[in-house]
Amino acid sequence: AKSAGGNRFELADPEADARAITRHGLTTALPAALDRGEFFIEYQPLVHLGDGSVRGAEALVRWLHPQHGVLGPDRFIPLAEHTGLIVPLGRWVLEQSVRQARSWRERNADAGPFRINVNLSPCQLTHPGLVQDTVDILERAGVEPDALCLEVTESALIGADDDLLKPLRRLAEMGVDIALDDFGTGYSNLANLRRLPVSILKLDRSFTQSMQQFPADPVDLKIVEGIVSLAHSLDLAVTVEGVETGAQAEQLRILGCDTAQGWYYARPGPPERLHELALVDATG
Ligand code: C2E
Ligand code: CA
Ligand code: CA
Ligand code: CA
Repeated sequence: AKSAGGNRFELADPEADARAITRHGLTTALPAALDRGEFFIEYQPLVHLGDGSVRGAEALVRWLHPQHGVLGPDRFIPLAEHTGLIVPLGRWVLEQSVRQARSWRERNADAGPFRINVNLSPCQLTHPGLVQDTVDILERAGVEPDALCLEVTESALIGADDDLLKPLRRLAEMGVDIALDDFGTGYSNLANLRRLPVSILKLDRSFTQSMQQFPADPVDLKIVEGIVSLAHSLDLAVTVEGVETGAQAEQLRILGCDTAQGWYYARPGPPERLHELALVDATG
């Protein structure tokens, strides 16, 4: 990266230059990183607020970069989206996660349904291979579609036309759950929800954060209460993310949220971690 020609110019901000080189360096290193197996996935449990059982996990990708160490997705997903690498990378994440879900299911055959949540970027949504790739991956792993939940951000679906929604509808018809991620940040028209093939709302972390104070802001409480009752009236389940304290969990449970995720339960970690987490006695 040092030979990127940075000293041919007089730069006002050397730090910006360093950032640009890193950005450039990371972008060019991405394709080889996939071939070399430098990506890995951490899993964060999804916990039923009613009984505390682990019902599934969200897959979160990381990059073990040979020079920079572990990089979080915010550092490289935007670059992968920009270069198109997100399509093969996303396919890889889906395949790994679905296989992992199968092994969890096998270990806990009588523990009730266990589901894997995988993030989809907007570029994957518009890629023509999405439905077939997903079907193939599920078949190869021997996993039923209803074990999979694909998370799509609210902003990716704002103003979505029928062409964009068609692949999601097909997946939903097959039994794959679609979750609307980061819900509440995108100013989407609530009435619009009926048009979308989603079955889960993932309430953005900003709502959970506002439950930190005690007593919580009464307006925030009303907003969450309103979202939950609207969601339930449309037959949507509500998952909350970013739960860091027991007080937040309790407040969100009282407000009627169904499932929670956050550091209070577990940080994202290697798949073996889920074996330790009383995985899962959802039936009794
Ligand atoms: P997200 O889908 O909203 O994922 C939740 C993020 O919140 C994760 O950050 C998770 O580690 C973090 N988190 C979980 N619990 C807590 C908590 O209690 N407190 C706080 N402060 N944070 C918590 P992470 O792993 O850095 O991922 C960031 C974003 O990167 C994700 O946001 C998602 O949009 C994207 N991402 C991650 N993996 C993938 C992937 O495989 N494909 C795509 N397209 N995007 C991904
Ligand atoms: Ca997500
Ligand atoms: Ca989210
Ligand atoms: Ca987010």
